[in-house]
Amino acid sequence: MIDRAHGYFQREKETMSKKKREAYLKERLSEILRYGYRYSKIIRSRFDALGIKPEKVKDLKDLEKLPITKKTDLVTFQKQTPPFGGFGIIPKKGVRRIYISPGPVFEPGEWDYSDIRWAQALFACGLRRGDVVLNTFNYHLTPLALMLDESLKMLGASVIPVGPGNLSMQIQLLRQIHVTGFLGTPSFLMSLLEAAEGMSLDLKKDFSLKVAFVGAEMFPESLRQKLEGKLEIFVRQAYGTVDVGCLGYECPEKKGMHIPEDVIVEIVDTETGRQLEIGATGEIVATTFSKIFPMIRFATGDLSYLFEDPCPCGRTSPRLGKILGRTDQVTKVWGIFIHPWQVDEVMARFPWVANYQIVVTREEHRDRMTVYVELKEELADQASLKRRVEKEMEEVLKVKGEVVLTAKGGIQDRAKKIDDRRIWE
Ligand SMILES: [Zn+2]
Repeated sequence: MIDRAHGYFQREKETMSKKKREAYLKERLSEILRYGYRYSKIIRSRFDALGIKPEKVKDLKDLEKLPITKKTDLVTFQKQTPPFGGFGIIPKKGVRRIYISPGPVFEPGEWDYSDIRWAQALFACGLRRGDVVLNTFNYHLTPLALMLDESLKMLGASVIPVGPGNLSMQIQLLRQIHVTGFLGTPSFLMSLLEAAEGMSLDLKKDFSLKVAFVGAEMFPESLRQKLEGKLEIFVRQAYGTVDVGCLGYECPEKKGMHIPEDVIVEIVDTETGRQLEIGATGEIVATTFSKIFPMIRFATGDLSYLFEDPCPCGRTSPRLGKILGRTDQVTKVWGIFIHPWQVDEVMARFPWVANYQIVVTREEHRDRMTVYVELKEELADQASLKRRVEKEMEEVLKVKGEVVLTAKGGIQDRAKKIDDRRIWE
C-alpha cells in the first residue's frame, strides 16, 4: 500500500522553523533583486526611477518600497520592448520554449526546468513515484501543462500528455492503462466522471484512480465532496498563475494552501500596495526567484488572505485561504468595499435563491444598492423573505440595500454579479 497521506517532497525545506524561513526568504530576495538589477533592463530602470538600490530592500516589509506590476503593465512593457518587455534574462544556453498567455504575454521557458514548486504540490496531493498520470491541462501555448509534466518527472511518475477534450478516449485510457492520477480542472474531472457513468461504468471498479490534482478554476467544497464521493479518492487543489507559477497547494489536511518556499507571497491593499496583516483580505502579490523571467511584486488580481496556525501535516509554511474572487469585481458603496463572495455567502443561506444581481446607482449624490434576487419557484409570504435577506445582507456587507424578488428568468445567466451603474462627472 502506498502512503499517499504523509511525507514531504523536500522535508528540510517544508518543515523549516519560522525564523529559518524568514532568513531563507530574505537571502533569496536580496539575491534576486541584485540579479534583476544587474541583468534586467526594466527592473533596473524602475529601481533607478525610484532612486533606490537593491541593497535598500533588506526584508519582506521593504518590498513595499517597490512598485506593483500588473498583468496590463506586462502587456504594455512587452509591446514597447518585444518580446519579453525587458524582464527576460536570456542565459547562454538559450530559451527552451516561448509561452504565450492571454494578454498576450510572452514568457521565456528555461532550458532545464528546475522549479520544484509544482512538484511539491503534486507530492502533497498524494502523487508518488510509479504513478501513471493523465495530464488533461492544455499543452498548447501556455506553460502550466508542461510545467506539471516536468514536475511529474521530478517525482518519478509517468505522464500521459492527453490535454483536454475527447472524453471517450480519456475514459478508455483510464480503464486500459490503469491510470492512478488525474491532473486538470475540477469541472473537467466532473464531466469525465459523468460521461463514464453515462456509459454505465462502475467508477470504483473500472477505474484505478487514487489521486486528482485540480486547479485553474474556483473549487467549491461541495464539488470536492461530490468528486471524492464518486471515486473514494483524494482531490486536492493548488493555486498559481502562468506568470509566477505555483503560489499555494493543499496538503492532505485540505485546510488552506501551503505557500511553497521558493516564492514570496504578499497580501496587499490593491489601492496602496501596502502589506495587510495576517487574516485580512487583499490582493495576492508574488515575487519569484526565476533567473530567466523574474517577477518582482506581480499582482495576480486574485483576492485571498493568509494564516499561520500550525498544520497537522508538519509543513510550516503560512497558508493562503480560499481564493475569494477578483479585484476587478470589487465595488465601493457608501465607501465600503463590497465583494461578490460576501454576497455569495449570504445567498447560500437561502436555498430558494436561483440567482442574484446587485445594481449600484447614484441618486442626488447618494449611493443606492438594489439586490435583485431570482426565486427558484413562486413562494408565499415574499414580504418576510425580502426582509430576511435585507437583514442578513446588511449584517455581512455592513451596507443597507433594498431587495427586489423576481420570478425565474428575471436575471440573465451571464449578468455581472455586481453591476455598478453610477456615472461620475
Ligand atoms: Zn498541511
